Amino acid sequence: MRYSKLFIPTLKESPAEAEVISHQLMVRAGMIRQLAAGIYSILPLGLRVLRKVENIIREEMNRIGGQEVFLPSIQPAELWKESGRWDFYGKELLRLKDRHDREFCYGPTHEEVITDILRKEIKSYRQLPVLLYQIQTKFRDEVRPRFGVMRGREFMMKDAYSFHASDESAQETYQDTAEAYSNIFRRCGLEFKKVEADSGTIGGNFSHEFMVLANSGEDAVAFCDSCDYASNLEKSEARAPLPSDDPTAPQELKEVATPGKRTVEEVCEFLSVSPCALVKTILFDTDQGLVAALVRGDRQVNAVKLKNLLDLESAQPADEKLIAEKAGVPVGYVGPVGLKLKIYADQEVALMKSMIAGANKPDAHFTGVQPGRDFAIEKSGDIRLIKENEPCPRCPDGKYAVKRGIEVGHIFVLGTKYSSALKATFLNDQGKENPMVMGCYGVGVGRTAAAAIEQNHDEKGIVWPLPIAPFQVVVMPVNYSTDSVREASDRIYQTLWDQGVDALLDDRTDRLGVKFKDAELIGIPLQIIVGPKNLESGTVEAKIRRTGESLLVPYPDFIGEIRNILKDL
Ligand code: ATP
Ligand code: MG
Repeated sequence: MRYSKLFIPTLKESPAEAEVISHQLMVRAGMIRQLAAGIYSILPLGLRVLRKVENIIREEMNRIGGQEVFLPSIQPAELWKESGRWDFYGKELLRLKDRHDREFCYGPTHEEVITDILRKEIKSYRQLPVLLYQIQTKFRDEVRPRFGVMRGREFMMKDAYSFHASDESAQETYQDTAEAYSNIFRRCGLEFKKVEADSGTIGGNFSHEFMVLANSGEDAVAFCDSCDYASNLEKSEARAPLPSDDPTAPQELKEVATPGKRTVEEVCEFLSVSPCALVKTILFDTDQGLVAALVRGDRQVNAVKLKNLLDLESAQPADEKLIAEKAGVPVGYVGPVGLKLKIYADQEVALMKSMIAGANKPDAHFTGVQPGRDFAIEKSGDIRLIKENEPCPRCPDGKYAVKRGIEVGHIFVLGTKYSSALKATFLNDQGKENPMVMGCYGVGVGRTAAAAIEQNHDEKGIVWPLPIAPFQVVVMPVNYSTDSVREASDRIYQTLWDQGVDALLDDRTDRLGVKFKDAELIGIPLQIIVGPKNLESGTVEAKIRRTGESLLVPYPDFIGEIRNILKDL
């Protein structure tokens, strides 16, 4: 490709709304333009990158026996009503009506559609397992679209679905896909972690996320500094406390005046105790009504773990109004003694023999509160957030480290959630009808490209990992109108092209400085600079984008040397 003919609208300044570096650089490098909030046009340079990511995904999915399909993006409401997600999915689902007033949605994911196909075609266990995938546009009406294509509303996803006759078969494909995903992200040049994850609205019972570690990540990843336990913070287990960990001894229940002291800090200071002597009573507004969650004063409730412990569909901290209305207590003084709500306690709290808690009336707390004696715990379990440096739950000596991560891939064993709802059954080897066991697996294509920029850039611009670079090499004539330079540049460009190297020829009449700036901004891994002086001594200059390192390569016999350099990039 000749630069003079390409549409690469680069910008000097970042758009004001671009908060993260990948968004800034994708706009500045002329890869994307925003059409509406969270909706982007992908320009030629951007599409070259996305196609490279897609092709890596294709190769790795095909390698494990995946077959590519292409499903409709518009889906009938009936299917979503059958699975129960029409109501459950909420506002993220973009709903539409056709001219006959029939309801549809723009697919945010495709479990329903694919299950509908398979339920009509699969009769016997002999036809299983099946692994199908597609690379397609999704629409999710995200509450906060941001960070460019990283969290768009319309975005490109590779989604895969597998169907099985048994749990073991589903596990096998799950492991194969996990391996394929590791290959995909490694080949895209990413530093990532596979972490245990919550299964969210898709449902199911087993799931991992692939997280690219980057400060701009919206997720927190907790991992052990000693063993290989890693998880999304919303899922990270706390080490189970031992009864001996609780230093408290039973005491008499006593009401104490705590005028105006609402927060843990205020109460602790006033009573001269440490926060771990206190218990916080947090009320949650859930699909099963208002419930109370107890954690130690120095801990936070993890709403995801609470949801899982209680098997809830939704759980948000109740607001002040609801607390006053339903519990009749001002915020800051809610406590478990006499509270007319179901009480769920963190495992640590369940072990405590004495605690300080709100007295359910203004300006008062109880001391010496004892679970069992003074209030009943409906259920206890691990419902708190873990923190950095806490002991790892999976090994004796490890400690938790917590970092930010970008979720680029997510894999699930779904079990029979969708196949049961949609009656996707098969006859097993005993001739008995069973629902198919399913798995589903997603990769964000644009998000993967953006994550690669988050990890590979410098003050000059993007530094593409070679396998997903829009061009691998840019040939840069010092002055394209000089005959010898033009001839050599054309020849190098042509040879690279013939050899299957993605090359760009910067044939523009601009100054060399301008060409350098653009090549650096758009992140091409290798520059070949063709100048009259070097040519006279039978060389051209090769400059590596990542290191800035420059070396002379023989000309006209350059190809072997260039191939060698590319091999190491
Ligand atoms: P998130 O928690 O970030 O919203 P998710 O759990 O909803 O992600 P999945 O339903 O598992 O995502 O989708 C599979 C993959 O699609 C994700 O791992 C991510 O790479 C990508 N993805 C999801 N939502 C978006 C989005 N709004 N914009 C771009 N990519 C997305
Ligand atoms: Mg989401």
